Amino acid sequence: GTRHPSIPLPKDLMGAWGNSEGIDLAEREVLREVARAIAAAPLPLAGGVGGGPVSTPLLAATPTPNPSRKREGDEVAQAIARAHAAFPAWSATPVETRAAILERYADLLEANRTELMAYAVREAFKTIPDALGEIREAADFCRYYAVQARGILAPRILPGPTGERNELRMMGRGVWATIAPWNFPLAIFTGQNAAALVAGNTGVAKPAPQTPGIAARAVELAHEAGVPRDALVLVTGGAEAGAALTGDPRIAGVAFTGSTATAKAIARSLLEDDNRPIVPLIAETGGINAMIVDSTALPEQVVADVIASAFRSAGQRCSALRLLIVQEEVAETILTMLRGAMELLVVGDPGDPRTDVGPVIDDAAYDRLMAYRESVKGRWIKTVLVPATGRFVPPTAIRLDDLDDLQQEWFGPLLHVATWRAGELTATIERVNAKRFGLTMGLHSRIARSAEIAETTAKVGNLYINRSMIGAVVGSQPFGGEGLSGTGPKAGGPNYLPRFCVERAVSVDT
Ligand code: GLU
Repeated sequence: GTRHPSIPLPKDLMGAWGNSEGIDLAEREVLREVARAIAAAPLPLAGGVGGGPVSTPLLAATPTPNPSRKREGDEVAQAIARAHAAFPAWSATPVETRAAILERYADLLEANRTELMAYAVREAFKTIPDALGEIREAADFCRYYAVQARGILAPRILPGPTGERNELRMMGRGVWATIAPWNFPLAIFTGQNAAALVAGNTGVAKPAPQTPGIAARAVELAHEAGVPRDALVLVTGGAEAGAALTGDPRIAGVAFTGSTATAKAIARSLLEDDNRPIVPLIAETGGINAMIVDSTALPEQVVADVIASAFRSAGQRCSALRLLIVQEEVAETILTMLRGAMELLVVGDPGDPRTDVGPVIDDAAYDRLMAYRESVKGRWIKTVLVPATGRFVPPTAIRLDDLDDLQQEWFGPLLHVATWRAGELTATIERVNAKRFGLTMGLHSRIARSAEIAETTAKVGNLYINRSMIGAVVGSQPFGGEGLSGTGPKAGGPNYLPRFCVERAVSVDT
């Protein structure tokens, strides 16, 4: 193809864990199946007007969050006590056994995909292609970490003088708190737990309060796959439950995906108690993700990638494009095409296979996004018609006089557009860096030197050149940001699992 630089995806990865994104004709039968499952569901359907937590036996057995701080704290404390008691046996379970359990878990997720997709549509208002992506990515994480664990968690013999045996062991740290977001209620939830477990930890898993049902089902399947019941314990609830969890001195590590503000609050809480061990925090937060387009870019490809990156999943991805920066000379061409492409977006019921953009997650998000959108009404370049009822935020492109005018992440289908002048690529990237987030950045350019500049200047965890900025593939595009976007470890990458371990060197004079 004409893509530059082209980085071919290894063929042998594609059917294994490289399958997180995309939907093809072979999936049509799945779509019908899911549509039937959703239609048969007894609860009112999403469409932005209803839905809500879907019940499972585990969720029913899990005490519901209680408004009283004391009660919620007690429930969390009990969960931690169970996971704490389960740690010695699980951490002593051979890596091979733990890895095999993850692989069985992946198989079970796939075997139950219709049901899990229906949960994703009903609880998180995911479109059907996005819901399928959830199952694939969750299974990918399990299989990828299983392979990684066998390779990197095995004990290693290190050199030493004759008569001395030196061994380096990678061991679980204890009980991890895993705190997942609603926007990837299965994929990220499963990825965090799979990593913690295969590395020899036990876990207390807290899904987002908006999506407890799919999480409870995922935990049930983990148990069915062979994870001991107390090695992975579900707790539900919101900020109070989260604070009770991360504030407990028995927690040996925290994996969190969510807002920057919450990540900082967790970091603070981990340091509050002077007697508590120093524990790691793996945080993945948001971003003001920019895509820079120059006059050599292929406009059709730019527009397709902008549409996917800014509006797919209703813009509710951390990786989503927030700020499109187009070289002045081509701005009008690109914007004309963008308006046309936005016109084709189908906004509506996520349970309908034709839908491109569903509703946003809850009333609070809807109100926040709509108020902001209204406040910049004079700067709309284009907006899209949406159904009259439901939490549908119309996909909207908003013109900025200056790229510095955007200093906040708007977590929805709102795209800001600014321009840059030829010859100012480095300066433009530096101005994006100056926002101090560092999750994703995109560049569309056919100039090799410009790609080099982006590679050396952009301070982001994931740089995407001549492609969309969403849908990081496990094993191919390890995902995670820096600066205000996170603490750096990259999910789905080869360096992730060691972050969940302690290393112990054992030296024996024989
Ligand atoms: N990994 C997802 C992607 O690449 C984003 C994850 C997130 O939103 O937290 O689109």
